[in-house]
Amino acid sequence: MQVPAPFEYERATSVDQAIGLLERLGSTARLVAGGHSLLPMMKLRLANFEYLIDINDLHGELGYVTVEPGQVRVGALTRHRELLESAELAEAFPIFRDAEKVIADPVVRNRGTIGGSLCQADPSEDLSAVCTTLDASCVIRGPSGERVVTMGEFYRGPYETAVGEDEILIEIRLPIRPGGSSAYHKVERRAGDWAVVSAGAAVWLEDGVISDARVGLAAVGPNTTGIPAISEALRGSPPSEELYRRAGEIAAASCDPVTDMRGSAEYKRHLADELTQRALRTAVDRINSGPRSLEES
Ligand SMILES: Cc1cc2nc3c(=O)[nH]c(=O)nc-3n(C[C@H](O)[C@H](O)[C@H](O)COP(=O)(O)OP(=O)(O)OC[C@H]3O[C@@H](n4cnc5c(N)ncnc54)[C@H](O)[C@@H]3O)c2cc1C
Repeated sequence: MQVPAPFEYERATSVDQAIGLLERLGSTARLVAGGHSLLPMMKLRLANFEYLIDINDLHGELGYVTVEPGQVRVGALTRHRELLESAELAEAFPIFRDAEKVIADPVVRNRGTIGGSLCQADPSEDLSAVCTTLDASCVIRGPSGERVVTMGEFYRGPYETAVGEDEILIEIRLPIRPGGSSAYHKVERRAGDWAVVSAGAAVWLEDGVISDARVGLAAVGPNTTGIPAISEALRGSPPSEELYRRAGEIAAASCDPVTDMRGSAEYKRHLADELTQRALRTAVDRINSGPRSLEES
């Protein structure tokens, strides 16, 4: 089945008007941003909604990357291509450019948005792993105002988030901390495919010692996974190959992959180990040599 069931279509004129429509129409309505996840699901009849509320006209309001002292704010309607091309974002968080280079293809990247990616909550989704790695928080607006949730609170399970039926994810906030850098490594079956496994790492150094580190994995369990045990194992030691190996072992032991068409659970555990080591190594190399994209490093 390649044709969606009939639906009514409305273009939102403001965030508050879209919230008003969601409030009125309830579970029969869905927002459509890039449409690259929602529309294929509707065509396959995995999802059916009576109303689609198109938020693309809100790009002026919700499409931005703003670097401020202490944080970067990214509007939910910012497209993959804009994230890929933002030099300011790549400088603060090179992990974004690493990931965007390997997300889908230019057609998908021209339309797909960070908000749609996070709200889809696919366990293989790359930007969820990036945002988990960077300890992002999500700003959600609804009829009674705004609330801010951590990535841990945002994800309720596969394809399930904290965003209510009458709410919109409007912004992602990424804290900037001094002395850090980040990286993303992904193994895919072919260019533009979803991850077999991917790993993001962010590391902060103080006087040559790791003051903090975070790792986020995708495609190795029901949810995008942050691994606090890796942070605990790395804090307080200088970076070394032995430490990366330890982190890789923890990643492999902490994840919960399944055997599927992308590979065996055993292979995915091996990738979780190896990609964690590579991401940590790249992040530390970047701190030592200044911010550069993966291509250059
Ligand atoms: C061929 C192909 C390959 C792909 N490969 C990859 C890949 O390698 N890695 C990867 O990570 N992704 C991949 N994707 C997914 C892609 O990144 C999509 O852009 C993304 O999943 C959804 O973004 P969207 O803006 O298209 O969302 P939509 O499809 O418009 O929406 C998805 C869901 O989010 C909801 N939503 C959207 N915006 C908001 C908002 N602001 N507030 C509340 N709810 C909202 C919608 O109602 C819907 O339920 C691929 C997609 C395709 C088609």
